[in-house]
Amino acid sequence: MTWRATVLTLFPEMFPGPLGQSLAGRALEQGSWSIEARNIRDHASGKHRNVDDAPFGGGAGMVMRADVLEAAIADCADDRPLVVMTPRGRPLTQAVVAGLADGPGVIVLCGRFEGIDQRVIEYRGMTEISIGDYVLSGGETAALVLLDACVRLLPGVMGAAESGVEESFAHGLLEYPHYTRPADWCGRAVPDVLLSGNHEAIATWRARAAREITQERRPDLWAAYLAQTQPTTIKTKGSAS
Ligand code: SAM
Repeated sequence: MTWRATVLTLFPEMFPGPLGQSLAGRALEQGSWSIEARNIRDHASGKHRNVDDAPFGGGAGMVMRADVLEAAIADCADDRPLVVMTPRGRPLTQAVVAGLADGPGVIVLCGRFEGIDQRVIEYRGMTEISIGDYVLSGGETAALVLLDACVRLLPGVMGAAESGVEESFAHGLLEYPHYTRPADWCGRAVPDVLLSGNHEAIATWRARAAREITQERRPDLWAAYLAQTQPTTIKTKGSAS
């Protein structure tokens, strides 16, 4: 069954954008997934078709109206999860991506201005997702990131079946470094073991490199990996604390 993405946005022309190219673009052409970008403004009423209004309590900027957004959501809601892109959301991780890719698709709401009236997020029980600790001008680029990450996990989209298995985050670690020809470049040689043809030694080297790079660059991932892979010490009565 085709994995379906619906994007609710004020800028539908931004889609599929880069997702119409390369891996995701080919998968789109082949029907592995589909995308429909809907203009939120189509659900606004009045002469000016306003989608936003001033924030209660005062302050800078404008807020996207709950009534307009609810009309846009009601027009496409089905069994797919509803996601809203927001810097306040839970971080987008490979586990979140894998969960979404495993389902029927996703409906993604893209914010603009100062953000979205919180009531529609709660009313619809939407999952709030952030792509990182920085502020974008709109949710569209964040939605593209989310969809790209999901689409490449869909069955048949990635070329080699194993290419998604060993990469970063798949096992809680960053990936080992890659090298290709020439074996000697600018006085820098490729690690000998990678030229040895000894697959066991190569696998051991890669596993060690993945652990080292994760420990060095991402102490947070490393701590989570250790907690997951090492048996916990159960304190018994009388044991030293
Ligand atoms: N006032 C908001 C705040 O401080 O959290 C930022 C609003 S931002 C200018 C406009 C929209 O961009 C947001 O409603 C959201 O949809 C999107 N956005 C910005 N940064 C994001 C991020 N890191 N992850 C996901 N979406 C983001």
